[in-house]
Amino acid sequence: MVPPPMTATKGPVEPAQVPVPDNILLQEWTGPYEGVPPWDQVRPDQFPQAFQFAIDEQSREYQAIANNPEAPTFANTIEPMERAGQRLDRVQAIFGVMTSNLSTPEIQELDKEWSPRLTAARDDIVLNPQLFARIETLYNNRSGLGLTSVQDRLLTRTFEYFVRQGARLTPEQKTQLSAMNQQLSSLFSEFNSRLLADEGTFTQASAAEMRGVPQDVRDAAAAAARDRNLPAGTFAIRNTRSAVEPVLTFADSRPLRERVWRAFVNRGDNANQNDTNQIISQIVKLRADRARLLGYPSHAHWRMQDTMAGDPERAMELMMGVWPAAVGRVREEVRDMQPLARRDGIRGAIEPWDYRYYMEKVRKARFDLSEDEIKPYFELSNLVEGMFWTAGQLFDMQFKENTGQVPVFHPDVRTWEVSDGRTGRTIGVFYLDTYAREGKRSGAWMTTYRSRSRLLGDDIVLASNNNNFTKPSAGQPVLISLDDAQTLFHEFGHAVHFLLVDVTYPSLGGAQRDFVEYPSQVMENWLLTREVLDRFARHHQTGQPMPRALVDKIKRAETFNQGFATVEYLSSALVDMKLHLDPTGVVDPDEFERRTLAEIGMPREMVMRHRLPQFGHLFSSDSYSAGYYSYLWSEVMDADTWAAFEEAGGPFDRTVADRFRTYILATGNETDRAEAYRAFRGRDPDVRALMTRRGFPVAPGGAR
Ligand SMILES: [Zn+2]
Repeated sequence: MVPPPMTATKGPVEPAQVPVPDNILLQEWTGPYEGVPPWDQVRPDQFPQAFQFAIDEQSREYQAIANNPEAPTFANTIEPMERAGQRLDRVQAIFGVMTSNLSTPEIQELDKEWSPRLTAARDDIVLNPQLFARIETLYNNRSGLGLTSVQDRLLTRTFEYFVRQGARLTPEQKTQLSAMNQQLSSLFSEFNSRLLADEGTFTQASAAEMRGVPQDVRDAAAAAARDRNLPAGTFAIRNTRSAVEPVLTFADSRPLRERVWRAFVNRGDNANQNDTNQIISQIVKLRADRARLLGYPSHAHWRMQDTMAGDPERAMELMMGVWPAAVGRVREEVRDMQPLARRDGIRGAIEPWDYRYYMEKVRKARFDLSEDEIKPYFELSNLVEGMFWTAGQLFDMQFKENTGQVPVFHPDVRTWEVSDGRTGRTIGVFYLDTYAREGKRSGAWMTTYRSRSRLLGDDIVLASNNNNFTKPSAGQPVLISLDDAQTLFHEFGHAVHFLLVDVTYPSLGGAQRDFVEYPSQVMENWLLTREVLDRFARHHQTGQPMPRALVDKIKRAETFNQGFATVEYLSSALVDMKLHLDPTGVVDPDEFERRTLAEIGMPREMVMRHRLPQFGHLFSSDSYSAGYYSYLWSEVMDADTWAAFEEAGGPFDRTVADRFRTYILATGNETDRAEAYRAFRGRDPDVRALMTRRGFPVAPGGAR
């Protein structure tokens, strides 16, 4: 996951006329690497002044562009827009870490207060008629402006963005729209703080109930219980994915599995002060009303304008093309589990809290392979070295740890200097915030505090990866599951992408939502290559590499469990899309979820990966709303790209890697992404690669 793109990082249009207050958040970043965020000097009480000053300064910058008496040109309108708001972007980069990684009640209050104000400030720009008139004039005359193709794309995208965001509405409609946007911002903040509160809860367990659970997970749960002053000999299972899934996979106690499962899937859905259902209803209604105001049939249609898929129908078509095979595979998986469950005295159905447990037993029986067997070889520091090595082999990137030499926002954060091995030039700093803790949101994500842009002279990228692995007790190794290791590589893939982006205009540095998950998903593939496993999957006690027989078993089991994984994901993506296709937006989330899952034929043994009351992708901002399908859309390109490596010399084929870097990564969004793909692959992506990878039947036919 990546956060919504910031408005971009830019330089001042002209020297600010107003003296800058003495506030660290408002200063240029100083120190090494063209300046780094001054985490060590940041205090929450500095934000109100910083936000207000930076918003006002940005407003002055845009007023100067909008009210320029000279006729509009690319150089006096579009370029200064690209440079505007730099100070505000720096403040927001720091505040984003406060809300995501270091949240406290004080930060949440600040977020609730300032989110709507920041939204209003953005609307003031987008809805400014003088500014839009200049952009529109340029757009209408763009063929005669002598623009490069990249400048033409920037102008076109800027124009389309303004139109999409309401630049053509009447003044009354603009007032309405801005009010809706501000209400939505407040609701997103409220959703976040409620979900965070529910994820701060835990399930208590006895030693007997923890039977079957691996030692490192027990140790972490025991430490969590001590932190909460629970009686000795009890365990606390945090209500986050990394803590919950090992218990669901290994705990022999069915009642414990059920308790842990219920706590996890009911986050935000407990009819108490943290319940999010009412918030979600309001968000969905406001989104539908806003889409209607903007002239779109639904929120999904509006959101999907700037995507590769282009409209909800194409996304639905892809999802429904995969769904039946995935459901069919779940039926087989359940059939395989039933005899094992019966042996444990389970007469009735496999329940959702049984699925992972028996899936693990089937894997053991069929492939003689257990998560338990893999984990001792998946030591976090080694895998981190493995992902750096991979980036070195493919893209000549070199990572040198420099923890302690740049300020960090938490003592657990480690940092690396990133350089280009071909030139020796420093290209970035990589920040890694590994562990779950109170006040950090769940899941995993990547951000940049600063991106590369030639226009602004920003060359050294500041990129971060954020995970939620369980912190071990002192002196213990961090052993992570296969799933967590894939997440580690996934987020690193986002970082590699943004470290290699090489564009002129900041607004063309990002990527569309359904493209941005493509480089990150490609990166996951390298984890299970022999080259990486042999070197970096080393036993945490003996240092021995993973035995060949175990590697072979992992390879053989690669498509195992794809029914579960695909249905868990796709059900969430389908519910998201259908929810945001409703033109009225009047929904009861609980009822909608139940009805939609029944309609699509959700297997009763399973639950969505993210139920609506906790679906942060959809309700913590607009960015992944009607956009959770993006992972599948991106995976079509990912699987087809991996096939390109396999068809060539293998996972580390340099010719393919160079093309991938040149056409896909470095270009950011400077060229049309479908064309970029064709330039890389010589054709459109072929969806059959995805079906093959997941072990689903492949229909004959052409490429999509
Ligand atoms: Zn991602």
